[in-house]
Amino acid sequence: MRWSKSCIPTFKENPAEAEIPSHRLMLRAGLIRKLTSGVYTFLPLGFKVIKKIEGIVREEMDAIGCQEVLMPVLHPIEIYEESGRLGSFGPELFKLQDGRQRTFALGPTHEEVITMIARDDMKSYRTLPQCLYQILIKFRDEIRPRYGVVRAREFIMKDAYSFHQSAESLDETYRAMEGAYRRIIERCGLSYRIVEADSGYIGGDESHEFVVLAGSGESTILSCSCGYAVNIERAAGRELETPRGARSAGAFERVHTPGMTTVEQVSGFLSVTPREVVKTLLYRAGDRDVAILIPGDRELNDIKLVRMFDGEQVRFLDDGEIKRLTGGPVGFSGPVGLSAETAVYADNLVKGYDSMIVGANEADTHLRGVKAGRDFTIAKFEDLVWAREGDLCPKCGAPLTKSNGLEVGHIFKLGTKYSRAMNAEFLDEAGKSHPFIMGCYGFGISRMVAAAIEQLHDKDGIVWPQSIAPMPLIVLPVNSNDAEIRDTAYRLEEEFERCGIETLLDDRDLSPGIKFKDADLVGIPYRLTIGKKLKDGMVELLHRSSRRVEEIPVAEAVERTMERIKT
Ligand code: ATP
Ligand code: MG
Repeated sequence: MRWSKSCIPTFKENPAEAEIPSHRLMLRAGLIRKLTSGVYTFLPLGFKVIKKIEGIVREEMDAIGCQEVLMPVLHPIEIYEESGRLGSFGPELFKLQDGRQRTFALGPTHEEVITMIARDDMKSYRTLPQCLYQILIKFRDEIRPRYGVVRAREFIMKDAYSFHQSAESLDETYRAMEGAYRRIIERCGLSYRIVEADSGYIGGDESHEFVVLAGSGESTILSCSCGYAVNIERAAGRELETPRGARSAGAFERVHTPGMTTVEQVSGFLSVTPREVVKTLLYRAGDRDVAILIPGDRELNDIKLVRMFDGEQVRFLDDGEIKRLTGGPVGFSGPVGLSAETAVYADNLVKGYDSMIVGANEADTHLRGVKAGRDFTIAKFEDLVWAREGDLCPKCGAPLTKSNGLEVGHIFKLGTKYSRAMNAEFLDEAGKSHPFIMGCYGFGISRMVAAAIEQLHDKDGIVWPQSIAPMPLIVLPVNSNDAEIRDTAYRLEEEFERCGIETLLDDRDLSPGIKFKDADLVGIPYRLTIGKKLKDGMVELLHRSSRRVEEIPVAEAVERTMERIKT
């Protein structure tokens, strides 16, 4: 492949629109171009990477016995009405009308379509289990498309769906899929964590996310050396159960805390640790006022809060409402003396308190030595705070460490959610019908390109692992006007191609400096430089990842380079 006649439009400047390295590098290295918000073209180098990743995914899916199919992108809206997903997908579903005013959706995922296939064509237990997969463009009208192809509105996904007679059979396929996903990411040369996704919330079924580690990834995870990992959004704050605050024998005392509205001010003034102070946060949930208690050194996780109130509108009380509810100004709220209609909820960590320091619902005053159960009532303990690094692993008790990454895959035990909603049943040995037990397994092919770059780049550009590099080798003649250098480069390129090594020949009439910079930017694993040393019969092989340089005789260039590429 000759660069001068290829669409590999590189550039030097950092594009203002790109916030994370992979997005910047994908634009700069000429892998993608934006058409409109969240919609991208993959140019030749980018598309080659897509095809490499697809190849690995396909091999691993086939290896565990999945069958490849191709489902339509255009879906009649009625199938979403049937599954009940019209509401839950909500605004993310792209809708359009045909010439006869019938409404269609552009497939965001294919549970409905595949469940219809199973319903019509897998009627007997004898045909089960089966797992079908496809690699196809998906459409989702993401509220905030960002980071280039990481969160796009049109993206490439591998999605697989399995159908089973029993939970054990589903479990078997689920484990096989987990293994396949591990191998896919390992073959792509990336480090990752398998994160336990929240199951209770979605309905008790098992679910795991595969997160490729990268500093600026959207997902923050807490993980443990024992293998446990969890998305920080869902992780519970867990600490050593040390009782907080001095055990108070008698009643609480009132302390004068002039102008001290923050935990830092109050704890500093009273010479206690911030965690001895308990924050009281006041919200309106639906049509009720509620107070939420959390340790002074923690932050409330609003995702958990919204979940606790199960779809009700939740908002902060404003200053006037706080005054009316508690009688005191903002910054001095506390649970003691609130009206009986104001339910008090507390984070699980508050269980460990023997006594606490809280606001007195009165200006410039706090209460010290307050005891739950004696001085006020807690309606319910819940997991409500953001977990953080150092919190304890629920599996083994060791401290968790924090890292960031990008979710590239998600496997899920669906159970009978879709098969019940859509009446998809099979007949068992006794001729009795049952809804299919299902699993679904998504893998973000186009996001994976970004994830790989996010994890593997340096200050000069992309550092592709060979398995998914657009091609393994770039041949770089430093001076295309020197006939000997140019002819050698052309000859080598042809020889490599003949040997089945896909090669990019940088035949552009540009300065060596620009060509070296571009080669680093596009990140091809091996660079064979044909330069001045050719006079002495030598060429140079650079390993992009280590920047190690080997001088090799030109006569052995093909053989030696191929040895490197093959190992
Ligand atoms: P997210 O939490 O990132 O929105 P999701 O839970 O909506 O992901 P799934 O429906 O499980 O994602 O889709 C499977 C995979 O498809 C994801 O793991 C991810 O790799 C990819 N994916 C999902 N949404 C997008 C998107 N908007 N752009 C690119 N890839 C995506
Ligand atoms: Mg999503």
